[in-house]
Amino acid sequence: MRQRPLGDDGDPIGHLVRLLTRLPGVGEKSARRIAHHVLSAEIDFVQTLGDAIATLPERVRRCVECGNYTSFDRCAVCADPRRGGDVLCVVWRPSEVDAIERSRSFQGRYHVLHTLLDPLGGVGPAEFPLDALVTRVRDEQVREVILATPPTVEGEATSLYVAEALRAQGVSVSRIASGVPHGGDLEFTDPITLGRALEGRRTL
Ligand SMILES: [Zn+2]
Repeated sequence: MRQRPLGDDGDPIGHLVRLLTRLPGVGEKSARRIAHHVLSAEIDFVQTLGDAIATLPERVRRCVECGNYTSFDRCAVCADPRRGGDVLCVVWRPSEVDAIERSRSFQGRYHVLHTLLDPLGGVGPAEFPLDALVTRVRDEQVREVILATPPTVEGEATSLYVAEALRAQGVSVSRIASGVPHGGDLEFTDPITLGRALEGRRTL
């Protein structure tokens, strides 16, 4: 779907509403409420909010180890010496690291792909970042890899592709169990279900 250009065409409230409705979970009604709230709020709050949004991309980077979001070189998980390095959980996006961390059901470390295998969407085997994962598994002597890509067509294709490559390296590979609904978003799966899905993983 083609989106309208970002220009404000002399209507600042309408402009903000259009920008806000591009955010996940924000419909036009909420966007109008937020815009009117911003107009009546303390100017300090509005400026701090604006700065927090504007500076987020430059203040947050990818962890050099796992690709998770962090303000430092290494994310909180990679920097924690109590987190075991020999079990690696492979996820699509940093928001899924967040969801699994909230479930408190995993003590190992993560590898964030940032992309899924999606040949029709332009991510074929040549574009997929498999080498970084394979190298990491080899260099860090990872014993088990848990594939927690989402239960969608792209997530399953990614899981099969990665599993095949890692099994060739002699690594034990498992897939998180059902419980996460097919086509569902890991990010929004409740922590208990996510915990069970991790516990009930099956070897591939
Ligand atoms: Zn990390």
